[in-house]
Amino acid sequence: MSSSNFNDNAVKSSFFLYKNVTSQYNDSKTLNAVRKLVPDDTQKDSLESLLKWFKGFMHWMPANLVCGNCNSGTNNAKDAGFMQRKIEIGDSWKIPKTEVYTCNLCGAMQYFPRHNEILKISNSRTGRCGEWSILFGAVLNSLSYQSRIVQDYLDHCWNEVMSDGRWVHVDSTLDYPISLDHPHYYEKSWGKKYLYVLSFSSYRVEDVTQRYTQDWQSVLLRRQDLKETESGTQLGSISDLQDLYCSIKIS
Ligand SMILES: [Zn+2]
Repeated sequence: MSSSNFNDNAVKSSFFLYKNVTSQYNDSKTLNAVRKLVPDDTQKDSLESLLKWFKGFMHWMPANLVCGNCNSGTNNAKDAGFMQRKIEIGDSWKIPKTEVYTCNLCGAMQYFPRHNEILKISNSRTGRCGEWSILFGAVLNSLSYQSRIVQDYLDHCWNEVMSDGRWVHVDSTLDYPISLDHPHYYEKSWGKKYLYVLSFSSYRVEDVTQRYTQDWQSVLLRRQDLKETESGTQLGSISDLQDLYCSIKIS
């Protein structure tokens, strides 16, 4: 968990992705379609109610699949079968990669395209934290909450929502109440060692690391180490990051 993906290439490609993802948060056609997903019996002014509904609405895509054809690939130790995973790289932010699974017993294949288009995700209702945070952010924005996406450059992403004048942590993949306003959860329970945690709206990137750590001094030391290695990013200051983000054209 200690290695961060915060290098120039990763930053640039994530900025390109989030600029395109969050620009959909301004698209009224998309937001109108997303709003219709929320059932009438959900309290739309309650984040608790929305989080509980969304957790049941979405399906989690496991990293280890069971073969849909011969049923092998369960966690049974006697089971020799497993689904081998390969990644196919796409040429658009809409599906930057597809996970291709092949059963080593029967040869059956399954495809999991990693959609970043909101309406594609709302059709499949399937994914991991990326798909969940993209769609849940859209749900919130469609209900006239102000929300954005947060990326930790380790292995997770979630949302923030503006509430009572402050940005509040919201993670639709977690169980309520941890899913709401528990910003230190990942550091405490998952042992995360942050370098940069950034939030994205359509027009702005913000360094929100301090909200998620209770050990800011260690974050600063890690940033210092990053600067001193060649693998680190040259994009050190938040104004550099903001300039880069603003320069990106959506496609
Ligand atoms: Zn099989």
